[in-house]
Amino acid sequence: MDLSAMYKISYGLFVLSAKNSSKQNGCIVNTVMQVTSTPNRIVVAVNKNNFTHDMIVASKEFNVSMLSTSVPFEVFKHFGFQSGKDVNKFENFNHKIANNGIAYLDKNTTAYLSAKVVSITDLGTHSLFLADVTDGAKLSDEDSVTYDYYQKNIKPKPNAKPKKTVWRCKICGYEYEGEELPADFICPLCKHPASDFEKIEA
Ligand code: FE
Repeated sequence: MDLSAMYKISYGLFVLSAKNSSKQNGCIVNTVMQVTSTPNRIVVAVNKNNFTHDMIVASKEFNVSMLSTSVPFEVFKHFGFQSGKDVNKFENFNHKIANNGIAYLDKNTTAYLSAKVVSITDLGTHSLFLADVTDGAKLSDEDSVTYDYYQKNIKPKPNAKPKKTVWRCKICGYEYEGEELPADFICPLCKHPASDFEKIEA
């Protein structure tokens, strides 16, 4: 089939956050959608490699921060290009704490939701969380960012010259610095394989 048809599905972009007894954590996802209004329920699919995934499995609770069109690329780098296993992403990053005790972003966002997991479906690489919306608030009058807007206006331009030779993910814009990209490399942001990277000479 023509796989480019898949890129025509429209998505939003969100910071999905959760906590355990020692820290708050969050990652970038594009797979949040409301599925029913009575009861008010959402789903989110999360890659099992994300630390946030394990926190949600354990705690059954999470927040969704809906990113706005003003969100800078740095936010994607901060929450998408590093793992909560290695760093505390909220330690020096502006945020607020919702009633469920979990962090959310109150800048470059349009709203946030708090949710409690109802069921977890094993999708192989991902888990699909179905959850009751328990709280939330509108945070700004900006437009929520779409994946398409991110591709066109936020991620580094495909022809932008880097200072060092990099391998750039064609899907999300993530840049790996170095002459050679390991064959088993997985994009830390969108989890696409090395075959979806292109070499950009400095
Ligand atoms: Fe990527």
